[in-house]
Amino acid sequence: MVSADQFKAHCDGVQARITAVCAQLGRDPATVRLLPVTKTHPVEAALLAYGYGLRSVGENRVQEAVQKRPLAPPDLRWELIGHLQSNKAKHALQAFDVIQSVDSAELATRLGRLAGELGLKREVLLQVNSGNDPAKFGCDLADAPRLLEAALAHPALAVKGLMAIAPLSDDAAVADRTFAALRLCRDDLAARFGVALPELSMGMSGDLESAVAAGSTCVRVGSALFGSRPSA
Ligand SMILES: *Cc1c(COP(=O)(O)O)cnc(C)c1O
Repeated sequence: MVSADQFKAHCDGVQARITAVCAQLGRDPATVRLLPVTKTHPVEAALLAYGYGLRSVGENRVQEAVQKRPLAPPDLRWELIGHLQSNKAKHALQAFDVIQSVDSAELATRLGRLAGELGLKREVLLQVNSGNDPAKFGCDLADAPRLLEAALAHPALAVKGLMAIAPLSDDAAVADRTFAALRLCRDDLAARFGVALPELSMGMSGDLESAVAAGSTCVRVGSALFGSRPSA
């Protein structure tokens, strides 16, 4: 685990990267949220983020959040950024404030129904595989309208926007294209359905500049903050 001082230096460094891109674009850096990704790290990672003033963390497994959450301050928000199997939908709704990885109409329908039954309201993002990467989850670009339609049908779900992960590549243009495609998809869906989809969750440690330049409102950053992951 990084020390509090190291963590602060890493956070300042990531914020500086965000600020530098925003300065070039004339964009307000406050419009880009830094979501620290604490997966595989002990709960202390979430506590460091909280101590720095961040109020959300990202996790990719339901069980990990279930274990860590009781040990963290109650006003820390937990966001699911990993693939959700439908048989864990109920636990995910109970463990997370936000589900960024809703990737099929079937999952959206199940989450919406269960959230309604549990009396919960949850913010969701729709994960779109805008990089056409066979190794990534996320619905195909062509299926995004059907996914949005399914999610909008449930008042217990507040659809905030879209999420994408760029394919691993040595070619920076791949990430650029992935993020531009997600933004276009969002613009198209917002116009077609007449809804605001303000959130674009895109960009990680290695490609956040490209994502911010393409309009990201949430960068999900793990290794640049906490160092490499134990099991990665
Ligand atoms: C692990 C993970 C991240 C963080 O990745 P880093 O490269 O460590 O910054 C971001 N998004 C998702 C969906 C992840 O699973």
